[in-house]
Amino acid sequence: MNSAILSLEADVPMLKMQPKKDDHRWDAVLSHDEASDGKFVFAVSSTGVYCRPSCPSKRPRRENVSFFARPQEAERAGFRECLRCRPRALAGNPRQQQVKAICRFIEQHLDEPLTLTRLGEQFGQSPFHLQRTFKAVLGITPREYANSRRMHDFRQKLKAGHSVTRAMHDAGYSSTSRLYSRTASELGMEPAKYRRGAIAAPIRYICADSPLGRMLIARTEKGICSIQFADRDEELEQGLKQEFPYAMRRRDDETLSDLAGKVVGAIGGVESTSSLPLDIRATAFQRRVWSYLQSIEFGGTRSYSDVAREIGRPSAARAVARACATNPVAVVIPCHRVRRSNGENGGYRWGVHRKETLLRIEAGGPQKAAARSLARQFQAL
Ligand SMILES: [Zn+2]
Repeated sequence: MNSAILSLEADVPMLKMQPKKDDHRWDAVLSHDEASDGKFVFAVSSTGVYCRPSCPSKRPRRENVSFFARPQEAERAGFRECLRCRPRALAGNPRQQQVKAICRFIEQHLDEPLTLTRLGEQFGQSPFHLQRTFKAVLGITPREYANSRRMHDFRQKLKAGHSVTRAMHDAGYSSTSRLYSRTASELGMEPAKYRRGAIAAPIRYICADSPLGRMLIARTEKGICSIQFADRDEELEQGLKQEFPYAMRRRDDETLSDLAGKVVGAIGGVESTSSLPLDIRATAFQRRVWSYLQSIEFGGTRSYSDVAREIGRPSAARAVARACATNPVAVVIPCHRVRRSNGENGGYRWGVHRKETLLRIEAGGPQKAAARSLARQFQAL
């Protein structure tokens, strides 16, 4: 123990913690708990340094550690700030506090035109200085921060089902063209499509058994938006999340089991899928390929070049293969019926072995009976 520190303790208004509370703090230190940063610092008598709880440095021995509510108190007790975790940067750093205040102000004025001049006046700084401080702390400019908040609000509102125009207005976008210019890069599609395809429409899905392993069927109010196969439900749900990251996704095995029965029935050739409504996005070319695929009869197959010729684009066999590979609804758009011209099966989005199984079922293999009996089980539910 360092006696200099011991003697100092006597005249320093140090917060004497309850032993219980200290245990709690020590646990936070042992677990490098970031959530505790700013709530207290810990000082190490063997090094004379104090740290924030999340400091990545090696953990000291318990008997060398004392706790202080604030960096200033640790310093009055003779400890130096750790250069690695900079505990002072968190508590009472005036620059940080000010940037925080600027952020709050921006958030409360998103629906107004915010200029640096206005922010400068509000916070008593030159626009240049304010921008530089802001960027030094957050890494982005106030304008970029305002835009990211607007985009965030906009997404929230769309998710909550507001119309695009209304959400746009609420999020502080003053004109449609401004929003479009921003979202073109940030969303990757137009807002109306974004809303239709991905956000506002809640998506319900079922995970069920099929002759091809686990199957996920998802639908919006308008129709089926996704049919996928995988070995495990977690994979299926992860895939759905990636495909519709902003949608409200809800598993609903009960009401969708009819639909699952129909798709399993379609696999076994006892159900027609032509009546099933689809809600999928497609380019003009994909639409042509996919609707042609739906005209191929159960048990029939075509080559990629056949399809290209049939849709009037004889040189587009590769593009046809790509359209097959990006089919969002297995079986209902029977892309498995398209093979290579040399008789090989070719690729399949959900695994070549599943394509083989489907083709064997359709050729009347023993799996066909299994598919049919599985379909009956669904219908009996
Ligand atoms: Zn440290």
